[in-house]
Amino acid sequence: MTADPRPRPGILDIAPYVGGEAKIEGVARVIRLASNESALGPSPRAMAAYKALAGDMFRYPDGHSTELRAVLARHHGLDPARIVCGAGSDELISLLIRCYAGPGDEVLYSRHGFLMYPIGAQAVGATPVAAPETDLTFDVDAVLARVTPRTRLVFIANPNNPTGTYVSRQEMRRLHAGLPPSVVLVIDAAYAEFVQRNDFEPGIELVDAARNVVMTRTFSKIYALAGLRLGWAYGPPQIVDVLDRVRGPFNVSSAAQQAGIAAVEDVAALDRAREHNDIWRPWLERELRGLGLTLSPSVANFVLVHFSPGRRDAAAAFEFLRGRGILTRRVGGYGLPEHLRITIGTEDEMRAVAAAVAAFVGGA
Ligand code: PMP
Repeated sequence: MTADPRPRPGILDIAPYVGGEAKIEGVARVIRLASNESALGPSPRAMAAYKALAGDMFRYPDGHSTELRAVLARHHGLDPARIVCGAGSDELISLLIRCYAGPGDEVLYSRHGFLMYPIGAQAVGATPVAAPETDLTFDVDAVLARVTPRTRLVFIANPNNPTGTYVSRQEMRRLHAGLPPSVVLVIDAAYAEFVQRNDFEPGIELVDAARNVVMTRTFSKIYALAGLRLGWAYGPPQIVDVLDRVRGPFNVSSAAQQAGIAAVEDVAALDRAREHNDIWRPWLERELRGLGLTLSPSVANFVLVHFSPGRRDAAAAFEFLRGRGILTRRVGGYGLPEHLRITIGTEDEMRAVAAAVAAFVGGA
């Protein structure tokens, strides 16, 4: 009798995460607005740090990302001992789920929340539980109503991908106050640097005030290092200790560490990226709303555009734009089959996508 190796129950139920497309056959210059990457590219200082490492590639990296954690701690006013770095925040999200949930447990998130939360839950045999949203925004009461004795983690992306919406500091506090202390609240602040709202707080305050809150951050978005895979988490000592036990001993490459340090220190590059976003997101929103389209109120580096079922639906819009060399993101996997997510790119890219959407809507 023979039997093939079989993965643990639940693994084959996972619909694999599909990233944004990067290429179109036969198109040399593709406009890539599908993955919420940076419009301006990395800091020149980060590029120089990366290049300077070439001759050292035979060495293992510092397994504790010591210098990077020190720089992050200084920049954000944190204790470096409470920071753990990872190969993208995806790694830290997966590790948190692996450490705190297993078969029979529940991982709670919101209906249009980032897909790695349910995927991570399924990967460990836990049950993902999605709470409904209100106006494409995380609904604190709806989430709290779904907490059960089996709930182990609650995930909130703030701002959220793909909706672009956020919850205020007060709402976040209310969410935390309503959770049992045994539940880990993960605040995924991947897009925090883009937010320009007085009532927004990325999660640091709550981590400092509680024993069950973790904030995750990434270098993939405003710092423009998505290809290097670098993220970090800030949490209570006991949760950081748990993550340090299970992560790979050399989970962050030397190149990522050095480029990350240079990126954090290049405050002017961060300001340029934020200023760019502050000009071109409102510009694109105005253009698209001017065409009669509905957009959710984004505070991040992308917009979520609502199309209508019928001849000019989201699928048709996606194909039309693709035909013009512009890649956007379909978000049916997030329960939003009639929406497209469009990343804020360069001025030329924004003008091109606005013109193409106008042509689509106008039936050209
Ligand atoms: N969280 C959110 C909300 C995201 O949109 C993304 C990137 N798509 C991530 C986490 C993961 O980013 P990375 O692994 O590149 O740090």
